[in-house]
Amino acid sequence: ANPSGVHERPRLPPGISREDFNRAIAELKGSLGENYVELNDKPLVDGWYMEHPNTHDAFHIVGQDELVASAVVYPGSTPDVQTIVRWANKHEIPIYPISMGRNVGYGGAAPRVPGSVVIDLGRRMNKIVNIDAENASCLLQPGVSYYRLYEEVKKRKLPLWIDCPDLGGGSVLGNACDRGVGYTPYGDHFGMHCGMEIVLPTGELLRTGMGAMPGPNGADNPTWQSFQNAYGPTSDGIFSQSNFGIVVQMGFWMMPETSHQSYMITFPREDDFPKIVDIIRPLAQQRVLGNVPQLRHVIQELSVTGFSKEHWFPGGGTNERRIPRDVIRKHASKMPCGDCSWVFYGTQYGDPAAIKTQLDIIKKAFSAIPGSRMLLPEDVPPEHYLHARVKVCSGEPVLRELDWLNWVPNAAHLDFSPISPTRGRDAEIVHGIVAKLYKKWGFDLFPTLCVAGREMHYIANILYDRASLDEKRRAAGLMRELIAEAAKEGYGEYRTHLLFADQVAGTYNWGNNALMRFNETLKDALDPNGILAPGRNGIWPKRFRGKGWEI
Ligand code: ADP
Repeated sequence: ANPSGVHERPRLPPGISREDFNRAIAELKGSLGENYVELNDKPLVDGWYMEHPNTHDAFHIVGQDELVASAVVYPGSTPDVQTIVRWANKHEIPIYPISMGRNVGYGGAAPRVPGSVVIDLGRRMNKIVNIDAENASCLLQPGVSYYRLYEEVKKRKLPLWIDCPDLGGGSVLGNACDRGVGYTPYGDHFGMHCGMEIVLPTGELLRTGMGAMPGPNGADNPTWQSFQNAYGPTSDGIFSQSNFGIVVQMGFWMMPETSHQSYMITFPREDDFPKIVDIIRPLAQQRVLGNVPQLRHVIQELSVTGFSKEHWFPGGGTNERRIPRDVIRKHASKMPCGDCSWVFYGTQYGDPAAIKTQLDIIKKAFSAIPGSRMLLPEDVPPEHYLHARVKVCSGEPVLRELDWLNWVPNAAHLDFSPISPTRGRDAEIVHGIVAKLYKKWGFDLFPTLCVAGREMHYIANILYDRASLDEKRRAAGLMRELIAEAAKEGYGEYRTHLLFADQVAGTYNWGNNALMRFNETLKDALDPNGILAPGRNGIWPKRFRGKGWEI
């Protein structure tokens, strides 16, 4: 029991006594060095984004100590990672690799199996191995954040952009492994990677793509960061959103810098929603749209200011009462967006003359919706969110999205992110399910849609108070019902929090779970002792399967 008398979970790998664990830890310290192995025996601190824990999920949905590490190790090299993997096989201790652990909303640094040993790769393996300005590519270790890469590119005065997600503090490699997205034309992070180096669960080392062919005189292959597929089956994909290997180096393509113009378009009516989606589709398919634009509900014009809900809605500052539509409307009407319902954020790229032509085409297409208005950065005050979009859409990392967390006290967030066709009627169905269930479970709804030519990611953030057990229970209940209801219509999630991985994996069950059975065959072949990240993305090794771990 901790000082407050609450029972705490013993921070040990499953089925191992404290004595045996301490012996195994002493052995690992002997191989890696005393300072690079840390028992997780101190109180858990949630910290904040920049000082996030590597011991548990700072945005806990269940008890803070449910998804907890028994120890954290800090390898300094690829051979160190191989040593850790072999040690884990010997002692049958589950290990859980993270790059930097800033995977907020999806589990952070937490392992799925409590008591796993977290491998914090990023702390010491943080080198920019190479930036090839001619090839517009780089080769990175796990600890390189978007900010670090950005600063290095600026320092070397290279005419290259990096592509960041909404928050720039995370690992470039880690985000790509989890198939995160960004907002320049290079926003598909896994799609823009080129070549990997991986420590397999048995400790062997593998290079994918052209890296599998040695370069002359022992050098890396000269086209490792130039051609993705090389020869034979493309194996890279199985190392994303999986537990088949630990990625220790990864190559990325970088976008050459260019002129750009960000803008927002506002739409007056809630009902304009399906029509907006149908206008975006051909523009995106024809590549008139320069990046994957965002369509946001107007409530977000309030939430991205950094003011709390209490500020906008005095007396209603918690999740107890949802902010009413007329209160949102009242405030929005005094803001640059005006009294609108949806706001589209886009950016165009290329030479200035081409951008001007594109903007004319886009304006004309959206003019089919009465009352739509286009605003440019010079039309809004300097603190407006559009200026943060300008940065992130032109390769400059930002932290602006953290402002969200002021909405309710002790805020944490979870994301529900189903994929649907880019079609008005599908957009309405997804939005209908989400709106109905948010109302039922009592949360404010902040829809953001990342709309591409053929599919769109509907991102619904659930902001809850971490200090309230009831809110956590409701957030999890909402999430489970969202996943189930969306799946009934054929809408599946592109990514999810650790706790919902089994449920989401279970919705991809076509052909009597053919895909999961295939993944399990791979898992058992590659990781016979089941030590690497058991349960990640719903993939359980034989040793754990069907023993009550699936939730
Ligand atoms: P970020 O700091 O970019 O948000 P994380 O380090 O939290 O990214 O990584 C997100 C998830 O991706 C981790 O929880 C882990 O499951 C997986 N992951 C990250 N880095 C690696 C890696 N180098 N090898 C294998 N899996 C990884």
